[in-house]
Amino acid sequence: MSRIVMMGPPGVGKGTQAALLAVASGVPAVSTGDLFREHVRSQTPLGLDVSALLAAGEYVPDEVTNAMVAERLAAPDARAGFILDGYPRTLPQLAELDRMLGDTAALDAVVLLHADVDEIVSRILLRAEQQGRADDTPEVVRRRIAVYRAETEPLADAYAEQGLLLRVDGVGTLDEVTARIHAALDEAAAA
Ligand code: AMP
Repeated sequence: MSRIVMMGPPGVGKGTQAALLAVASGVPAVSTGDLFREHVRSQTPLGLDVSALLAAGEYVPDEVTNAMVAERLAAPDARAGFILDGYPRTLPQLAELDRMLGDTAALDAVVLLHADVDEIVSRILLRAEQQGRADDTPEVVRRRIAVYRAETEPLADAYAEQGLLLRVDGVGTLDEVTARIHAALDEAAAA
């Protein structure tokens, strides 16, 4: 189980869990949000292009996102596997990921962390205080959740049809959620 996609609404804690799972699995966590934020911080041409989209809670265009991910997954450290955090987020991205991986390196599992919206909004507002992210204002959070529902939620059905989807309750302590993720992956590996 070393090629895993972590999905879930903004603020559900998928970044934290993806990072922990990456350490436990000995493969890199690849977070498109982190990669974009790094470009914005370093003021690269890509960063300058995408900063307004990130600040507004809108998705970066698929071609731009796909190219960035293709480059990252081609790096030697991703050869043995990866935990993808925040990608794919649209159906065209899902198709592109399938194409990138080809048949030999298909995904092992897709973990969908779920939580209700009120829970999520309060978590994100807490994170805003702690991390000061520009896209963590209540208005942008609502927009990010709406975009998630419209663009990303349909991917869960697509992955369920492929038999890859593991639904995991994202409400609980960090350790509880980590334990649920490991249990779901162990169960899927044994099946
Ligand atoms: P995240 O840290 O995963 O919540 O991502 C932060 C922001 O980066 C998102 O709100 C989008 O603006 C952008 N982003 C991250 N991943 C993607 C993606 N797969 N497709 C499009 N935009 C993305």
